[in-house]
Amino acid sequence: MRYGPPCEQSNFQLYKVITHELLASENREGAPVLRDMLLRLLSAGMASLPKSPKVLSEDRDPAAVEFHKALFAAHFQTVRARLKESGIGAAAGQVMAKISVALCRYCNEFPVDRAFFEAGLFCKDANMVNMSFFFLNRFLDIADAIDDPDNAAIDNTDFMETDIPSPYDLDLPETAHVKNDRVEEIRDWVLGWSMDQSVQQKMDMRSCDKCRADIYTATLTCPKCNYKHDPCIISGYPVLKRSRVECTNCHAPANRDDWNVWVQVMKTCPWCQAPQNAQY
Ligand SMILES: [Zn+2]
Repeated sequence: MRYGPPCEQSNFQLYKVITHELLASENREGAPVLRDMLLRLLSAGMASLPKSPKVLSEDRDPAAVEFHKALFAAHFQTVRARLKESGIGAAAGQVMAKISVALCRYCNEFPVDRAFFEAGLFCKDANMVNMSFFFLNRFLDIADAIDDPDNAAIDNTDFMETDIPSPYDLDLPETAHVKNDRVEEIRDWVLGWSMDQSVQQKMDMRSCDKCRADIYTATLTCPKCNYKHDPCIISGYPVLKRSRVECTNCHAPANRDDWNVWVQVMKTCPWCQAPQNAQY
């Protein structure tokens, strides 16, 4: 970080180790430091402005191809941690739940059991019970598969039309990142919900901006028409046309409500750190 990460490809193996270790770490400094390192690596040669998330996700530059998803994972973990520390209550709770749901899209980049565990927990805290049930059920499948890989049977049907990677394309961690007594507590919640008729194990849906099909709310790519949405720079959810705002400095896009929750407290763009105002 002090001298800037050299962008020679011969360093990528080292960066991969650093990325993997920091994203798996419980240390609160891990994600912000990694975010800054990768953003510098991927914006190398640029003047003062970091490249936008859209540019990075389409960039053919080898560093961007290799590391843009890890950068997004580190970025959204950083935003979530800062919201958590801000103590701004219910509005932040909603945004933190969305971030945790969006992070499941990048679950190849950090421990997959933690990704679904956190999505379930933050959704529960934000009273998004159906989504919490959905992610915690998935978490239990993954925790059981880590515990007993020989008898792993993870049903992926519910996730077919999402941009969350299939468990068959992931390397399951060798050791669990969530403690056993926590797993048993969650098993009890899930069992309770499965007998409660007011709770459905169902993902939230929205209509695609282009083809209007009813699709998984957090997917960036429409599974029907392939239309691609940008990720909101605050919540990681897809930016929808009717609520799109942009940073006036780096033009990173966001959904208006999420942007305002963040900017009213932090006063800066989370991507480029320029001073920013709420937008209406
Ligand atoms: Zn910005």
